[in-house]
Amino acid sequence: MEIRFLGGAREVGRSAILVKSKGGARILLDYGVKVDPEDEIHFPMHVSPKDLDAVVLTHAHLDHSGAIPMLFVSASPRLIATEATYRQSEYLLNDMIKLNGDRLFFGELEVRKALGKGERVNFNETVRVKDVEIELIDAGHIPGSAQVILNSDKTLLYTGDFTTVKTRLMDGADVPSGGFDVVITESTYAREDHQPRRELERALVEQLRETVESGGTALVPAFSVSRSQEVAMILRALNFPHDVYMDGMAKELTNLYLELEEFVDGIDLLGQAVKRVRYVRGRRMRERLSSEAAVVISPAGMLQGGPAVYYARAVAEREDSSITFVSFQVPGTPGEAVLSRKVLEADGESVTVRSKVSQFRLSGHAGRKELHDYLRRTAEGARVFAVHGEPESCAELARWAREELGTEAVDPELGAVYEV
Ligand SMILES: [Zn+2]
Ligand SMILES: [Zn+2]
Repeated sequence: MEIRFLGGAREVGRSAILVKSKGGARILLDYGVKVDPEDEIHFPMHVSPKDLDAVVLTHAHLDHSGAIPMLFVSASPRLIATEATYRQSEYLLNDMIKLNGDRLFFGELEVRKALGKGERVNFNETVRVKDVEIELIDAGHIPGSAQVILNSDKTLLYTGDFTTVKTRLMDGADVPSGGFDVVITESTYAREDHQPRRELERALVEQLRETVESGGTALVPAFSVSRSQEVAMILRALNFPHDVYMDGMAKELTNLYLELEEFVDGIDLLGQAVKRVRYVRGRRMRERLSSEAAVVISPAGMLQGGPAVYYARAVAEREDSSITFVSFQVPGTPGEAVLSRKVLEADGESVTVRSKVSQFRLSGHAGRKELHDYLRRTAEGARVFAVHGEPESCAELARWAREELGTEAVDPELGAVYEV
């Protein structure tokens, strides 16, 4: 088996791994993009789509899916993913085209072509590509997210993005039993333990309650995929007594999740949460809301666009209001500037933020402890490749696997090729 790292090596973004089996099957695992803080889009290394026997997409996030349509400009490879992944990808890919159309090598046509022909595969079902059996198992990261098992003369486990932590939305990843020759693991939080979810939830709700009860607007910038829904579910679960609004693409994704009930472990709670959440419709409602005592959940999660930018401007100079981040803020993004320097930069203007700013990191990735527990169970005797993390995180996880598991473990660099 040959493994080639085309992206997502010593970085988060543009995940792409090409696997060649002994029997000649060429299988691409993910083909994502990386959008840097300057809004520059980076693609993985080139692969000839005509030579691919199959593409497996682990989940809908653009760092895994964003370059997939490029493979469908002049070819039509087999695409394998869950139904939930296709449905969410449609929103995310078309949104990317709307924002960056002139800088991409494809358009809505290729998105339709890719997603329309994609094979819908259920978790724990096996698909055959030449001499390789492919199986997807639940990764617990977002609805429909999968880990991939390749089984031929060698066995390979690719985690994609995963977490074993149970959240209101997802029950957490299935952990396969070991015996793999190769384990390719994400490393996002290899150097950091997560605070217990329940503690974070209580602190988050307390913070939002304080703002609303002092008459302020509590803005929660959140990703439209998974995070917005989780925040609404936490508020419902902890009996938050005040008004909650949702804006932007989060509304469409919430409606989609109600349809994808078999992929949403917390579907009952989501249903209850939706009954309490009001969708923002139209500019008037948005204007009125930005001075109301209520919670507003809106993308984008790092204030790089979406209605959250409008709300942030409206509340930035109000001391009774708050901006509460619910995910990591990438250095160089507007969200990170608000969080670390209390400066809001929007539309060429720079405003000093006087509202309360805080952060509760509701991560969808395994933390250090979860990564170690997972690898103890899956990677005994396997060759380990640590990807999808800052360079220090990939290196640290590989070092840990070498020392604690006694396995051969590396943090491959971009373009590296390994024979197993
Ligand atoms: Zn992801
Ligand atoms: Zn990712």
